[in-house]
Amino acid sequence: MATLTLRNALIVTPTGIVRGGLSASGGVITHIGADSGLPLSEQDIDCRSMYVLPGLIDPHVHLGIGPGAGPEKFERDFRTESRDAAAGGVTTMVTTTLFGAQDRTEVAELAIEAGNRYSMVDFRLTSVITKREHLAEIPELVKKGIRSYKFFLGYKGAQAEAFGMASEGISWDFFYQACEAIGSADARAFPTIHAEDPYVRDFLTERMRNRPARNTLLQSWLESSPNILEPMQIYPAALIAHEVGTPVYVVHTSAAESVALIRDLRDRGWDVYGETLAAFLYWTAQEADARNKGAIAKIQPPIRTTRDRDALWGGVGDGTIASVGTDCQMYPRASRQGDFWDAQVGLGPGMGTLLPATVTAASRHSALDFELLARVLSENTARRFNLYPRKGVLQVGSDADIVVLDPTSAADVDPANLQSAAGYSLYENERLMGWPERVYVRGELVAERSRIVADAPVGRYIP
Ligand SMILES: [Zn+2]
Repeated sequence: MATLTLRNALIVTPTGIVRGGLSASGGVITHIGADSGLPLSEQDIDCRSMYVLPGLIDPHVHLGIGPGAGPEKFERDFRTESRDAAAGGVTTMVTTTLFGAQDRTEVAELAIEAGNRYSMVDFRLTSVITKREHLAEIPELVKKGIRSYKFFLGYKGAQAEAFGMASEGISWDFFYQACEAIGSADARAFPTIHAEDPYVRDFLTERMRNRPARNTLLQSWLESSPNILEPMQIYPAALIAHEVGTPVYVVHTSAAESVALIRDLRDRGWDVYGETLAAFLYWTAQEADARNKGAIAKIQPPIRTTRDRDALWGGVGDGTIASVGTDCQMYPRASRQGDFWDAQVGLGPGMGTLLPATVTAASRHSALDFELLARVLSENTARRFNLYPRKGVLQVGSDADIVVLDPTSAADVDPANLQSAAGYSLYENERLMGWPERVYVRGELVAERSRIVADAPVGRYIP
Protein backbone atom coordinates (compact mmCIF):
# COMPACT_ATOMS: atom_id res chain seq x y z
CA MET A 1 0.00 0.00 0.00
CA ALA A 2 1.34 3.41 -0.97
CA THR A 3 1.41 6.03 1.76
CA LEU A 4 0.24 8.91 -0.42
CA THR A 5 -1.85 9.31 -3.55
CA LEU A 6 -2.79 12.63 -5.11
CA ARG A 7 -5.63 12.24 -7.66
CA ASN A 8 -7.58 14.35 -10.09
CA ALA A 9 -4.67 16.71 -10.68
CA LEU A 10 -2.61 18.26 -13.46
CA ILE A 11 0.85 16.77 -12.92
CA VAL A 12 3.59 18.97 -14.37
CA THR A 13 6.34 16.74 -15.79
CA PRO A 14 9.25 17.51 -18.16
CA THR A 15 7.38 15.77 -20.98
CA GLY A 16 4.08 17.55 -20.50
CA ILE A 17 1.14 17.88 -18.17
CA VAL A 18 -0.41 14.58 -17.13
CA ARG A 19 -4.10 14.51 -16.19
CA GLY A 20 -4.33 12.08 -13.32
CA GLY A 21 -2.21 11.74 -10.26
CA LEU A 22 0.77 10.29 -8.52
CA SER A 23 1.57 8.00 -5.63
CA ALA A 24 4.48 7.95 -3.24
CA SER A 25 5.85 5.47 -0.77
CA GLY A 26 8.91 5.64 1.45
CA GLY A 27 9.38 9.26 0.45
CA VAL A 28 9.77 8.43 -3.24
CA ILE A 29 7.37 8.70 -6.19
CA THR A 30 6.16 5.25 -7.21
CA HIS A 31 3.45 5.94 -9.82
CA ILE A 32 2.42 8.73 -12.17
CA GLY A 33 -0.50 8.44 -14.54
CA ALA A 34 -4.24 8.07 -14.92
CA ASP A 35 -6.22 8.01 -11.68
CA SER A 36 -7.54 4.54 -12.43
CA GLY A 37 -4.01 3.11 -12.36
CA LEU A 38 -3.02 4.55 -8.99
CA PRO A 39 -2.95 2.38 -5.86
CA LEU A 40 -5.19 3.02 -2.87
CA SER A 41 -3.31 4.90 -0.17
CA GLU A 42 -3.43 5.77 3.48
CA GLN A 43 -3.68 9.39 2.39
CA ASP A 44 -5.79 9.60 -0.75
CA ILE A 45 -6.29 13.21 -1.80
CA ASP A 46 -8.60 14.64 -4.46
CA CYS A 47 -6.70 17.63 -5.87
CA ARG A 48 -9.79 19.06 -7.61
CA SER A 49 -7.90 19.74 -10.86
CA MET A 50 -5.11 21.73 -9.20
CA TYR A 51 -1.57 21.74 -10.57
CA VAL A 52 1.05 19.50 -8.99
CA LEU A 53 4.62 20.76 -9.39
CA PRO A 54 7.99 19.47 -8.26
CA GLY A 55 8.94 21.16 -4.97
CA LEU A 56 10.70 24.46 -5.54
CA ILE A 57 14.47 24.69 -5.14
CA ASP A 58 15.71 28.11 -4.07
CA PRO A 59 19.33 28.42 -5.25
CA HIS A 60 20.05 31.67 -3.41
CA VAL A 61 19.53 31.91 0.35
CA HIS A 62 21.68 33.52 3.06
CA LEU A 63 20.89 32.13 6.50
CA GLY A 64 22.69 33.49 9.54
CA ILE A 65 23.68 36.91 8.19
CA GLY A 66 22.63 40.42 9.21
CA PRO A 67 22.55 41.95 12.70
CA GLY A 68 23.70 39.35 15.25
CA ALA A 69 25.28 37.19 12.52
CA GLY A 70 26.87 34.04 13.87
CA PRO A 71 26.22 30.40 14.71
CA GLU A 72 23.21 31.11 16.92
CA LYS A 73 21.52 33.27 14.32
CA PHE A 74 22.31 30.59 11.75
CA GLU A 75 20.39 28.04 13.83
CA ARG A 76 17.51 30.45 14.45
CA ASP A 77 17.28 31.33 10.76
CA PHE A 78 17.29 27.65 9.84
CA ARG A 79 14.37 27.09 12.18
CA THR A 80 12.19 30.01 11.09
CA GLU A 81 13.11 30.61 7.46
CA SER A 82 12.92 26.93 6.55
CA ARG A 83 9.33 27.03 7.80
CA ASP A 84 8.75 30.03 5.53
CA ALA A 85 10.28 27.98 2.72
CA ALA A 86 8.05 24.97 3.40
CA ALA A 87 4.90 27.08 3.64
CA GLY A 88 5.79 28.70 0.32
CA GLY A 89 6.45 25.46 -1.56
CA VAL A 90 10.27 25.55 -1.40
CA THR A 91 11.25 21.99 -0.49
CA THR A 92 15.01 22.39 -0.99
CA MET A 93 17.09 25.49 -0.40
CA VAL A 94 20.69 26.23 -1.18
CA THR A 95 22.02 28.47 1.56
CA THR A 96 25.41 30.08 1.91
CA THR A 97 27.34 29.12 5.02
CA LEU A 98 28.41 31.92 7.37
CA PHE A 99 30.31 34.77 5.79
CA GLY A 100 33.65 35.79 7.27
CA ALA A 101 37.31 34.93 7.31
CA GLN A 102 37.22 31.79 9.45
CA ASP A 103 37.85 28.30 8.05
CA ARG A 104 35.21 27.33 5.53
CA THR A 105 35.22 23.70 6.63
CA GLU A 106 34.32 24.71 10.18
CA VAL A 107 31.34 26.84 9.13
CA ALA A 108 30.19 24.14 6.70
CA GLU A 109 30.11 21.56 9.50
CA LEU A 110 28.19 23.98 11.67
CA ALA A 111 25.67 24.58 8.88
CA ILE A 112 25.14 20.88 8.21
CA GLU A 113 24.57 20.19 11.89
CA ALA A 114 22.20 23.15 12.34
CA GLY A 115 20.18 22.26 9.27
CA ASN A 116 19.89 18.59 10.08
CA ARG A 117 18.53 19.59 13.48
CA TYR A 118 16.26 22.49 12.60
CA SER A 119 15.42 22.61 8.90
CA MET A 120 11.89 21.95 7.72
CA VAL A 121 13.13 21.45 4.14
CA ASP A 122 16.08 19.71 2.51
CA PHE A 123 19.16 21.82 1.90
CA ARG A 124 22.46 22.16 0.12
CA LEU A 125 25.26 24.58 0.88
CA THR A 126 27.22 27.21 -1.03
CA SER A 127 30.54 28.16 0.53
CA VAL A 128 31.42 31.87 0.47
CA ILE A 129 35.10 32.17 -0.43
CA THR A 130 36.40 35.43 1.00
CA LYS A 131 40.18 35.02 1.03
CA ARG A 132 42.90 33.15 -0.82
CA GLU A 133 43.63 30.81 2.08
CA HIS A 134 40.14 29.39 1.63
CA LEU A 135 41.06 27.96 -1.77
CA ALA A 136 43.14 25.25 -0.10
CA GLU A 137 40.00 24.03 1.68
CA ILE A 138 38.03 23.37 -1.51
CA PRO A 139 38.98 19.67 -1.84
CA GLU A 140 37.79 19.11 1.74
CA LEU A 141 34.57 21.05 1.04
CA VAL A 142 33.95 18.97 -2.07
CA LYS A 143 34.23 15.85 0.11
CA LYS A 144 31.50 17.31 2.28
CA GLY A 145 29.30 17.59 -0.80
CA ILE A 146 29.71 21.32 -1.48
CA ARG A 147 30.06 22.18 -5.16
CA SER A 148 29.07 25.86 -5.37
CA TYR A 149 31.45 28.60 -4.25
CA LYS A 150 30.36 32.20 -4.01
CA PHE A 151 32.53 35.20 -4.92
CA PHE A 152 31.40 38.71 -4.05
CA LEU A 153 32.96 40.51 -6.99
CA GLY A 154 30.54 43.38 -6.35
CA TYR A 155 32.08 44.56 -3.08
CA LYS A 156 35.15 46.49 -1.99
CA GLY A 157 36.12 48.67 0.98
CA ALA A 158 34.03 48.51 4.13
CA GLN A 159 31.37 46.28 2.54
CA ALA A 160 34.04 43.75 1.54
CA GLU A 161 35.69 43.88 4.97
CA ALA A 162 32.34 43.25 6.66
CA PHE A 163 32.21 39.96 4.74
CA GLY A 164 35.75 38.98 5.82
CA MET A 165 37.30 39.99 2.50
CA ALA A 166 40.31 42.19 1.76
CA SER A 167 39.44 45.83 1.14
CA GLU A 168 40.28 45.48 -2.57
CA GLY A 169 37.56 42.85 -2.92
CA ILE A 170 38.05 39.84 -5.23
CA SER A 171 40.75 40.66 -7.79
CA TRP A 172 40.87 38.84 -11.11
CA ASP A 173 44.04 36.90 -10.23
CA PHE A 174 42.25 35.63 -7.11
CA PHE A 175 39.25 34.62 -9.21
CA TYR A 176 41.52 32.89 -11.74
CA GLN A 177 43.17 30.83 -8.99
CA ALA A 178 39.73 30.10 -7.54
CA CYS A 179 38.51 28.70 -10.88
CA GLU A 180 41.62 26.53 -11.05
CA ALA A 181 41.12 25.26 -7.49
CA ILE A 182 37.42 24.53 -8.09
CA GLY A 183 37.95 22.85 -11.47
CA SER A 184 40.74 20.60 -10.21
CA ALA A 185 38.74 19.59 -7.11
CA ASP A 186 35.60 18.46 -8.98
CA ALA A 187 34.41 18.82 -12.56
CA ARG A 188 30.84 19.36 -11.32
CA ALA A 189 31.82 22.25 -9.02
CA PHE A 190 31.45 25.89 -10.05
CA PRO A 191 31.93 29.47 -8.90
CA THR A 192 28.91 31.72 -8.45
CA ILE A 193 29.41 35.45 -8.84
CA HIS A 194 27.71 38.62 -7.68
CA ALA A 195 28.67 40.73 -10.70
CA GLU A 196 28.44 44.51 -10.22
CA ASP A 197 31.52 46.71 -10.51
CA PRO A 198 31.92 48.22 -7.02
CA TYR A 199 34.28 51.03 -8.00
CA VAL A 200 31.93 52.92 -10.30
CA ARG A 201 28.96 52.03 -8.10
CA ASP A 202 30.48 53.39 -4.89
CA PHE A 203 31.42 56.69 -6.52
CA LEU A 204 27.95 57.08 -8.03
CA THR A 205 26.31 56.13 -4.72
CA GLU A 206 28.15 58.95 -2.96
CA ARG A 207 26.99 61.32 -5.67
CA MET A 208 23.34 60.19 -5.49
CA ARG A 209 23.20 60.17 -1.70
CA ASN A 210 23.52 63.96 -1.59
CA ARG A 211 20.52 64.51 -3.81
CA PRO A 212 17.22 64.79 -1.99
CA ALA A 213 14.75 62.54 -3.76
CA ARG A 214 12.27 61.40 -1.14
CA ASN A 215 9.67 59.91 -3.43
CA THR A 216 12.12 58.47 -5.94
CA LEU A 217 14.51 56.73 -3.54
CA LEU A 218 14.62 53.43 -5.40
CA GLN A 219 15.02 55.18 -8.74
CA SER A 220 18.00 57.07 -7.24
CA TRP A 221 19.33 53.78 -5.92
CA LEU A 222 19.00 52.37 -9.43
CA GLU A 223 20.95 55.31 -10.88
CA SER A 224 23.79 54.58 -8.44
CA SER A 225 24.33 51.21 -10.14
CA PRO A 226 23.77 51.58 -13.88
CA ASN A 227 23.15 48.54 -16.06
CA ILE A 228 26.68 48.38 -17.47
CA LEU A 229 28.23 47.54 -14.08
CA GLU A 230 26.87 43.99 -14.23
CA PRO A 231 28.19 42.93 -17.67
CA MET A 232 31.43 44.78 -16.82
CA GLN A 233 32.14 41.88 -14.47
CA ILE A 234 30.23 39.04 -16.12
CA TYR A 235 32.40 39.18 -19.21
CA PRO A 236 35.86 38.98 -17.58
CA ALA A 237 34.62 36.36 -15.10
CA ALA A 238 33.26 34.27 -17.98
CA LEU A 239 36.52 34.70 -19.93
CA ILE A 240 38.53 33.42 -16.98
CA ALA A 241 36.15 30.57 -16.16
CA HIS A 242 36.04 29.47 -19.79
CA GLU A 243 39.82 29.70 -20.12
CA VAL A 244 40.34 27.62 -16.99
CA GLY A 245 37.52 25.22 -17.91
CA THR A 246 34.92 25.75 -15.19
CA PRO A 247 31.30 26.79 -15.54
CA VAL A 248 30.33 30.16 -14.06
CA TYR A 249 27.01 30.88 -12.39
CA VAL A 250 25.77 34.49 -12.36
CA VAL A 251 23.54 35.17 -9.35
CA HIS A 252 20.70 37.71 -9.33
CA THR A 253 21.03 38.87 -12.95
CA SER A 254 19.23 42.22 -13.11
CA ALA A 255 20.06 44.10 -16.33
CA ALA A 256 18.88 43.70 -19.92
CA GLU A 257 22.52 43.98 -21.10
CA SER A 258 23.49 41.05 -18.88
CA VAL A 259 20.77 38.85 -20.33
CA ALA A 260 22.03 39.69 -23.83
CA LEU A 261 25.64 38.97 -22.84
CA ILE A 262 24.84 35.66 -21.15
CA ARG A 263 22.82 34.65 -24.22
CA ASP A 264 25.78 35.48 -26.51
CA LEU A 265 28.25 33.56 -24.36
CA ARG A 266 25.95 30.55 -24.19
CA ASP A 267 25.55 30.72 -27.98
CA ARG A 268 29.34 30.35 -28.18
CA GLY A 269 28.97 27.15 -26.20
CA TRP A 270 30.34 28.57 -22.97
CA ASP A 271 28.93 27.22 -19.71
CA VAL A 272 27.59 30.51 -18.32
CA TYR A 273 24.52 30.08 -16.13
CA GLY A 274 22.00 32.85 -15.44
CA GLU A 275 19.94 33.19 -12.27
CA THR A 276 17.53 35.99 -11.46
CA LEU A 277 15.31 36.86 -8.51
CA ALA A 278 11.54 36.78 -8.24
CA ALA A 279 11.78 40.43 -7.14
CA PHE A 280 13.41 41.41 -10.45
CA LEU A 281 10.68 39.60 -12.38
CA TYR A 282 7.97 41.29 -10.33
CA TRP A 283 9.01 44.89 -9.61
CA THR A 284 10.43 47.94 -11.28
CA ALA A 285 12.10 50.68 -9.21
CA GLN A 286 9.34 53.06 -10.23
CA GLU A 287 6.61 50.69 -9.04
CA ALA A 288 8.43 50.04 -5.76
CA ASP A 289 8.74 53.81 -5.22
CA ALA A 290 5.04 54.23 -5.96
CA ARG A 291 4.31 51.70 -3.18
CA ASN A 292 6.78 53.43 -0.82
CA LYS A 293 8.87 50.28 -0.39
CA GLY A 294 11.94 52.34 0.59
CA ALA A 295 14.90 50.44 2.00
CA ILE A 296 13.04 47.09 1.99
CA ALA A 297 13.49 47.05 -1.80
CA LYS A 298 17.11 48.27 -1.67
CA ILE A 299 19.23 45.51 -3.11
CA GLN A 300 22.59 45.37 -4.91
CA PRO A 301 22.23 45.08 -7.87
CA PRO A 302 19.08 47.20 -7.88
CA ILE A 303 15.55 46.52 -9.03
CA ARG A 304 15.56 48.20 -12.45
CA THR A 305 13.15 49.22 -15.22
CA THR A 306 10.36 47.83 -17.38
CA ARG A 307 12.90 47.26 -20.15
CA ASP A 308 15.10 45.16 -17.86
CA ARG A 309 12.18 43.21 -16.46
CA ASP A 310 10.95 42.43 -19.98
CA ALA A 311 14.47 41.29 -20.94
CA LEU A 312 14.62 39.02 -17.88
CA TRP A 313 11.30 37.45 -18.85
CA GLY A 314 12.67 37.00 -22.36
CA GLY A 315 15.68 35.25 -20.82
CA VAL A 316 13.43 33.02 -18.74
CA GLY A 317 11.48 32.16 -21.86
CA ASP A 318 14.46 31.10 -23.95
CA GLY A 319 16.51 29.46 -21.18
CA THR A 320 19.19 32.18 -20.86
CA ILE A 321 17.93 32.78 -17.33
CA ALA A 322 17.65 29.25 -16.03
CA SER A 323 16.86 29.68 -12.32
CA VAL A 324 14.75 31.99 -10.19
CA GLY A 325 15.56 32.43 -6.51
CA THR A 326 15.04 34.85 -3.64
CA ASP A 327 18.39 36.09 -2.20
CA CYS A 328 16.59 35.69 1.12
CA GLN A 329 18.07 37.04 4.35
CA MET A 330 16.41 37.23 7.75
CA TYR A 331 17.08 40.90 8.43
CA PRO A 332 14.94 42.27 11.27
CA ARG A 333 12.66 45.15 10.37
CA ALA A 334 14.64 47.65 12.48
CA SER A 335 17.69 47.19 10.24
CA ARG A 336 15.65 48.30 7.21
CA GLN A 337 14.35 51.54 8.73
CA GLY A 338 15.90 54.94 9.36
CA ASP A 339 17.97 56.66 6.71
CA PHE A 340 17.46 55.04 3.32
CA TRP A 341 21.12 55.21 2.30
CA ASP A 342 22.39 53.74 5.59
CA ALA A 343 19.81 50.95 5.90
CA GLN A 344 20.90 47.35 5.47
CA VAL A 345 21.10 46.27 1.80
CA GLY A 346 19.07 43.24 0.76
CA LEU A 347 15.53 42.09 0.13
CA GLY A 348 14.84 40.39 3.44
CA PRO A 349 12.72 37.23 3.67
CA GLY A 350 11.33 35.76 0.47
CA MET A 351 10.88 32.00 0.31
CA GLY A 352 7.29 32.17 1.54
CA THR A 353 6.33 34.33 -1.44
CA LEU A 354 8.65 32.94 -4.14
CA LEU A 355 5.95 30.88 -5.83
CA PRO A 356 3.01 33.32 -5.82
CA ALA A 357 5.24 36.30 -6.69
CA THR A 358 6.65 34.43 -9.69
CA VAL A 359 3.25 33.09 -10.77
CA THR A 360 1.70 36.56 -10.49
CA ALA A 361 4.56 38.22 -12.39
CA ALA A 362 4.41 35.48 -15.04
CA SER A 363 0.71 36.07 -15.57
CA ARG A 364 1.44 39.75 -16.25
CA HIS A 365 4.08 38.81 -18.84
CA SER A 366 2.07 36.19 -20.74
CA ALA A 367 4.38 33.57 -19.26
CA LEU A 368 1.93 31.70 -17.05
CA ASP A 369 3.13 28.33 -18.26
CA PHE A 370 3.53 25.84 -15.43
CA GLU A 371 5.99 23.70 -17.37
CA LEU A 372 8.22 26.77 -17.80
CA LEU A 373 7.82 27.71 -14.13
CA ALA A 374 8.67 24.15 -13.04
CA ARG A 375 11.90 24.40 -15.04
CA VAL A 376 13.11 27.72 -13.62
CA LEU A 377 11.86 27.16 -10.07
CA SER A 378 12.99 23.56 -9.74
CA GLU A 379 14.31 21.40 -12.58
CA ASN A 380 17.11 23.60 -13.94
CA THR A 381 18.34 24.40 -10.44
CA ALA A 382 18.35 20.70 -9.56
CA ARG A 383 20.41 19.96 -12.65
CA ARG A 384 22.94 22.73 -11.97
CA PHE A 385 23.35 21.79 -8.30
CA ASN A 386 23.69 18.07 -9.05
CA LEU A 387 20.37 17.18 -7.43
CA TYR A 388 18.69 15.88 -10.59
CA PRO A 389 16.82 13.52 -10.97
CA ARG A 390 16.54 12.88 -7.24
CA LYS A 391 14.98 16.33 -7.05
CA GLY A 392 13.60 18.85 -9.52
CA VAL A 393 11.24 16.48 -11.32
CA LEU A 394 8.06 14.51 -10.78
CA GLN A 395 8.93 11.06 -12.05
CA VAL A 396 9.01 7.54 -10.66
CA GLY A 397 12.03 7.13 -8.39
CA SER A 398 12.41 10.83 -7.54
CA ASP A 399 11.92 12.25 -4.05
CA ALA A 400 8.27 13.01 -3.40
CA ASP A 401 8.94 16.75 -2.99
CA ILE A 402 5.62 18.11 -4.17
CA VAL A 403 3.66 21.34 -4.35
CA VAL A 404 -0.08 21.26 -4.97
CA LEU A 405 -0.91 24.67 -6.36
CA ASP A 406 -4.27 26.32 -6.70
CA PRO A 407 -3.90 28.66 -9.67
CA THR A 408 -7.10 30.50 -8.78
CA SER A 409 -6.12 31.28 -5.19
CA ALA A 410 -5.37 34.98 -4.66
CA ALA A 411 -4.60 36.76 -1.41
CA ASP A 412 -3.14 40.04 -0.21
CA VAL A 413 0.22 39.44 1.43
CA ASP A 414 0.11 40.00 5.18
CA PRO A 415 3.44 39.31 6.91
CA ALA A 416 1.49 38.05 9.93
CA ASN A 417 0.46 35.06 7.80
CA LEU A 418 4.01 34.25 6.67
CA GLN A 419 6.31 31.97 8.66
CA SER A 420 9.44 34.13 8.42
CA ALA A 421 10.67 35.71 11.64
CA ALA A 422 11.33 38.99 9.79
CA GLY A 423 7.77 40.28 10.23
CA TYR A 424 7.72 42.16 6.92
CA SER A 425 7.65 41.36 3.23
CA LEU A 426 8.58 43.12 0.04
CA TYR A 427 5.14 42.00 -1.19
CA GLU A 428 3.16 43.34 1.77
CA ASN A 429 -0.33 44.38 0.56
CA GLU A 430 0.35 43.00 -2.94
CA ARG A 431 -2.35 40.70 -4.26
CA LEU A 432 -0.57 37.51 -5.28
CA MET A 433 -2.05 34.45 -6.97
CA GLY A 434 -0.93 30.85 -7.17
CA TRP A 435 -0.38 30.00 -3.50
CA PRO A 436 0.54 26.45 -2.56
CA GLU A 437 -2.32 24.40 -1.20
CA ARG A 438 -0.23 21.49 0.13
CA VAL A 439 3.52 20.99 0.31
CA TYR A 440 5.28 17.64 0.77
CA VAL A 441 8.94 16.97 1.57
CA ARG A 442 9.85 13.38 0.65
CA GLY A 443 6.19 12.38 0.88
CA GLU A 444 5.57 14.03 4.22
CA LEU A 445 2.97 16.80 4.38
CA VAL A 446 4.81 19.78 5.88
CA ALA A 447 2.51 22.68 5.04
CA GLU A 448 -1.10 23.26 4.15
CA ARG A 449 -2.42 26.66 3.00
CA SER A 450 0.60 28.57 4.36
CA ARG A 451 0.51 26.83 7.74
CA ILE A 452 3.09 24.35 8.97
CA VAL A 453 1.51 21.01 9.84
CA ALA A 454 4.61 18.85 10.40
CA ASP A 455 5.31 18.19 14.07
CA ALA A 456 9.09 18.31 13.77
CA PRO A 457 11.70 19.48 11.25
CA VAL A 458 12.06 16.91 8.49
CA GLY A 459 14.80 18.58 6.39
CA ARG A 460 18.12 16.90 5.62
CA TYR A 461 21.43 17.89 4.18
CA ILE A 462 21.72 16.63 0.60
CA PRO A 463 25.45 16.33 -0.15
ZN1 LIG B 1 22.85 36.97 -2.31
